[in-house]
Amino acid sequence: MLLNQLARIFQEFKNTDMKYKNRVRSRIANLKDIKNPSLRRNVLCGNVPPDRMARMTAEEMASDELKEMRKNLTKEAIREHQMARTGGTETDLFTCGKCKKKNCTYTQVQTRSADEPMTTFVLCNECGNRWKFC
Ligand SMILES: [Zn+2]
Repeated sequence: MLLNQLARIFQEFKNTDMKYKNRVRSRIANLKDIKNPSLRRNVLCGNVPPDRMARMTAEEMASDELKEMRKNLTKEAIREHQMARTGGTETDLFTCGKCKKKNCTYTQVQTRSADEPMTTFVLCNECGNRWKFC
């Protein structure tokens, strides 16, 4: 069954250049990957037709485990981003250039390498003006 599928993929790429042959080879490598049983199952069950399989990207062929890991990484990044937005310390050390009030929130971020000074981002709580203080 699996061999039939592969034969069809090969057929599709018959008389094509090395690039396509390499593509087919990489698909077979993915199908043989014991850490990726869902892809093999999907191909065997016909959920992934051979022509679709031939066009799949490495991303699409990635195992469920890998996809889950990537999803979690993205979640982590979003959470950090949200923390950076909501976090911050209220201060009257800065004067807003727009409304001249001293009701600000500042956040310090290490934008470059660790041995360089932190960049301070200031947000005016009165008018929403944002600026950078180095
Ligand atoms: Zn302001």
